[in-house]
Amino acid sequence: RDIRHISTGAMLRDAVTRGTHAGLSAKEFMDKGALVPDDIMFEMLDELFTSSEDRTSILLDGFPRNVNQVKQLEILASKHGTSVEAAICIDAPGKVLISRLGGRRLCPSCGAGYHTINLPPKKEGICDNCGTKLIVRNDDKPETIKHRLKVYKKQTEPLTAIYKKTGKLHIINGAEEMDKVAEKIENIINH
Ligand code: AMP
Repeated sequence: RDIRHISTGAMLRDAVTRGTHAGLSAKEFMDKGALVPDDIMFEMLDELFTSSEDRTSILLDGFPRNVNQVKQLEILASKHGTSVEAAICIDAPGKVLISRLGGRRLCPSCGAGYHTINLPPKKEGICDNCGTKLIVRNDDKPETIKHRLKVYKKQTEPLTAIYKKTGKLHIINGAEEMDKVAEKIENIINH
C-alpha cells in the first residue's frame, strides 16, 4: 500500500524551524507541552490532504488529539473524498512513557530520533547519519513531560471511547519492544 506517514508533531517542529507563520504561533504551546490550537492544525492538515490526493492512504501520527479534532478530521476527509478507516491507540503505563520520552534524543539537523537506552547512537550524543550533536526536545524535559501526560489524560484519552463506538479502534500494547509494536501497527494497516 502506498501510505504517507505524517507526524503532526514533526510537521510542527519543521514549521517552527523554518519560522513559518504557523510555526511561530505553535512554538509557545509546544514548549509548554500544551496542544497547539485547533485552527492552526486544521489549516496545516488541509494543505497536507490537498498535496496527498494522489496517494491511497495517510497514516496520521499524533492526530486527532482532542474531541474537536475528531470532527475536524471527518470534515477534512470528506472534503478530500476520503474517510477514516482505523484508529490505533498505542497504550503504555505512565512510567514507561516517562522513561521513553526522557531518554529520547533528536538530531536537529536531519531529524533522526534516538533513545539513550532503547536506540542509542553508535557514538554517545552524536547522530549516526550526519555527525551532528543530538539534542533533547524542549517538550521532553521532565516538567513538560508531566504536563503532556496530563493533557493526554484529559483531552486525548476520551477519543478511544469515540472510536470504539464506531468499531474502528485498535489498541496495541505500547510497553512491548519497538519491533513488536511496529509489527502490530503494520498488521493493522495492511489488513
Ligand atoms: P509529538 O511529536 O506528537 O509528541 O508532538 C509534539 C507537540 O506538537 C505536542 O506536544 C503538541 O504541542 C504539538 N502537536 C502535535 N500534534 C498535535 C495535534 N494533533 N494537536 C495539537 N497539538 C499537536
